[in-house]
Amino acid sequence: MLKLENICTYYGAIQALDDVSIEVKQGEIVTLIGANGAGKTTLLMTVCGAPRAKSGHISFEGEDITHQETHVIMRHGIAISPEGRRVFPDLTVVENLKMGGFFLNKQQTAEGLEHVYTLFPRLEERANQRAVTMSGGEQQMLAIGRALMTKPKLLLLDEPTLGLAPLIITQIFDIIRTIREQGVTVFLVEQNANKALQVADRGYVLETGKVVLADTGANLLSNDAVRKAYLGG
Ligand code: ATP
Repeated sequence: MLKLENICTYYGAIQALDDVSIEVKQGEIVTLIGANGAGKTTLLMTVCGAPRAKSGHISFEGEDITHQETHVIMRHGIAISPEGRRVFPDLTVVENLKMGGFFLNKQQTAEGLEHVYTLFPRLEERANQRAVTMSGGEQQMLAIGRALMTKPKLLLLDEPTLGLAPLIITQIFDIIRTIREQGVTVFLVEQNANKALQVADRGYVLETGKVVLADTGANLLSNDAVRKAYLGG
């Protein structure tokens, strides 16, 4: 479904991704794990076209999207829940959700809201609450819900559990499973390697911009090098 081939991405002279090749197949949950600064966020953002890959190719459902504008890439059925949630603090929950589907017509917006509210009843209860007053976990649900407004085929999730309490983290991973059961393919960037590899069909390990390991989630969980570096021994 999503294929990255030999991707190199730079910020000025700094190389953030070095010859990265990754594939996400339809219906999978694929995770990308790695330390701070490894290039995980850069990789998700490169899929979205900002920053742009300096070399290599990205395709989605067989179409070359490497040089397409971000809004065009999104209309193919890709959505992102960004790192740090980035909800609009002064807008209400429902206003935030509508921002996620700003190009939808009235009926599509209503359908999107119904879809998101089914998955996150809490968002419906709090529809008119300002986002800034929501808890961290609720804001994360809002960020994911906003990304789901367009009913994407592929959901990119950047650190959805960062800074959340253990109980909420478990809830978020349950939601990720449910989203996949509903037919959405998930590409998940996580620092919480243990949980991410448990939920993922396959995973990639990124170190200083390079993929150093690729395997099933189960194999990576029992891999000695992964255990030492990312799972606390
Ligand atoms: P974290 O888990 O801390 O979010 P990450 O794995 O997502 O880290 P990136 O944020 O992709 O890593 O950063 C990869 C490298 O690119 C780092 O060296 C970072 O300093 C650099 N970088 C990221 N964004 C920019 C930017 N806008 N300008 C310059 N350098 C950047």
